[in-house]
Amino acid sequence: MTTNARPIPVPDPESQLYWDAAARHALELPYCDACTRYVFPPRPTCTRCLGALRWVAVSGRGTVYSFAVMHESYMRGFDPPYLVAQIELDEQPGLRLTTNLIDCEPGDARIGMRVEVAFEDRGEDVAVPQFRPVSDGGA
Ligand SMILES: [Zn+2]
Repeated sequence: MTTNARPIPVPDPESQLYWDAAARHALELPYCDACTRYVFPPRPTCTRCLGALRWVAVSGRGTVYSFAVMHESYMRGFDPPYLVAQIELDEQPGLRLTTNLIDCEPGDARIGMRVEVAFEDRGEDVAVPQFRPVSDGGA
């Protein structure tokens, strides 16, 4: 590993299953069957009914809700300019992940653009979900 390698995520008990799924290149989020809604960021129980959550695979598709072009490096391994974005997933209004938008020139990023998850491997059994413009034009 070089000194310029991007940081490795450190799971906590609530996010462990998120990172376990990511390592398999799957995007899974906690879901409450009683409320029929996703709860993210992960919590021990549903934030609405305090019921149990189970982890469910999601489509990995969504739209750019907001983004910023970073012109300085705030973290090792991230060479400016790069994009930080909030992605609203198709599964549920308001279900958003903060991520990097990759494979996209900073000047081409747009709010509302269609994106899909892509996994960046950062070592053995570690991958980070990120998002890129959809390769098939959306839908
Ligand atoms: Zn609930």
